[in-house]
Amino acid sequence: MSTPSKSLRIAIVGGGLGGLMAALCVHSFCDPTAIKIDVYEQASEYKEIGAGVSLGRNTLRVIKQIGLYEQTYAMAGKTKIWLSARRYDTGEEIVRIKADGDEPSHLPVHRAEFLALLVRTIKERAAATLHPNKKCLAIEEIDDAIVLNFADGAMATAGLVIAADGIHSRIRQHYHNDDAQFGEMVVYRGLVPTDAIKDWWPLDTYTPIWIGPGRYFIVYPVSDGSLLNIGAFIATDGKSLENKTESWTLRGDRFDLEKDYADFDPTVNRLIQHLDEKPLKWILYDRPLCDKWVFANGKVALLGDAAHAMVPHQGAGVGQAIEDGYILGQCLRDYLNDPSTHTLEDWLTNVYQSVRLPRAQRVQTTSRENGNNLHAQSNTFKNPMSEERLKQNLQDRMQWIWADDIDDMYNNARKSMLPGGADNASCKDSLV
Ligand SMILES: Cc1cc2nc3c(=O)[nH]c(=O)nc-3n(C[C@H](O)[C@H](O)[C@H](O)COP(=O)(O)OP(=O)(O)OC[C@H]3O[C@@H](n4cnc5c(N)ncnc54)[C@H](O)[C@@H]3O)c2cc1C
Repeated sequence: MSTPSKSLRIAIVGGGLGGLMAALCVHSFCDPTAIKIDVYEQASEYKEIGAGVSLGRNTLRVIKQIGLYEQTYAMAGKTKIWLSARRYDTGEEIVRIKADGDEPSHLPVHRAEFLALLVRTIKERAAATLHPNKKCLAIEEIDDAIVLNFADGAMATAGLVIAADGIHSRIRQHYHNDDAQFGEMVVYRGLVPTDAIKDWWPLDTYTPIWIGPGRYFIVYPVSDGSLLNIGAFIATDGKSLENKTESWTLRGDRFDLEKDYADFDPTVNRLIQHLDEKPLKWILYDRPLCDKWVFANGKVALLGDAAHAMVPHQGAGVGQAIEDGYILGQCLRDYLNDPSTHTLEDWLTNVYQSVRLPRAQRVQTTSRENGNNLHAQSNTFKNPMSEERLKQNLQDRMQWIWADDIDDMYNNARKSMLPGGADNASCKDSLV
């Protein structure tokens, strides 16, 4: 690494999975004497509401690059789990979706456990200073810096603000005049202890998804296999929802869920009996595509849901946020190594945004489409042709998300900035 001739103070707003992974990636790639990272999180402690999150193979490669794969694999119970799409009524398998070769296609983890790993690692590596209880209300551009104003009256200054403040990002609002869009579905979520069902649960090594008219039901193990994460999705036009505001703490009623899933495979109904009487009930939202992520002459960049909030039908939102941090970290390294040739704005626009935006937007768009696949139209199972079409639709749809080489994308964009520049190390190494 050449001696850096510039240093950069970086403020990451939002300490969710996207913001914390960005801190770790930037710290891993950049000379620590050239950067100072502060993470500002509105909550009083770092915690995640909700249950499981599935990390695709693309995400796992980044996690491996920053040295956290073994811990993540252990958290997921060191089990290789395949996706298995099934008929809602008989439970018969429609298609099994494996990754190429022997690698896991995804690892399911408990969100809170994964977040705790990131917080611990940031502290152990002294990668960033974490500031809880710091809700950012506004930012202003003053001379060469961005000034951040917080709800408690405090202020901070940074040369680069990374907006990782989620789907309702204040910083995005500063530059884009759009609203979150209703995702036409609700999801009931909950956790069931595996001990309670081990005598009859038949699908240990699968993430089964029962696909039915207007509904789908997904299950995967988390917490080293000690809990099953349940997601019960129901399509709705929203008219029956009293309050269409998004909330991650809203609770539904298990009895409504039982009625909604009464015609599903008995395995599904047995699982529902083990959910809390008032399971979490989330209304799904995403954001319209936005074509600009870099502002204030390169002093502000959007990341994660702030840039590309998507509905969760491909389990890919966290993965896309993590890819953002991975590419951003490399851009900052290359900029700081030679800040005289190109500006920070050049790097962020021509490399970070140009590599990440088209891919993230494709995942956003296809996530909406997959919602339709996963709640099959009511006549799908009456017609063998429609069932075959559904199978084809599901079979390969995740492969490009899991397998596209984001290092190649980075290297190509980087070469256009630094003619003759050497390639980076690849994160295409095998995971196993
Ligand atoms: C039902 C459901 C299931 C999902 N399942 C998966 C899955 O299996 N796999 C997957 O990859 N993705 C999944 N996702 C998507 C995933 O949860 C999101 O894409 C991901 O959480 C985005 O991370 P983020 O860090 O960008 O935003 P967030 O996780 O929303 O984090 C934003 C952080 O910023 C903080 N913040 C907000 N405003 C401010 C402010 N003004 N000042 C300071 N801090 C602020 C928040 O408190 C929060 O900590 C799912 C989503 C849903 C709804």
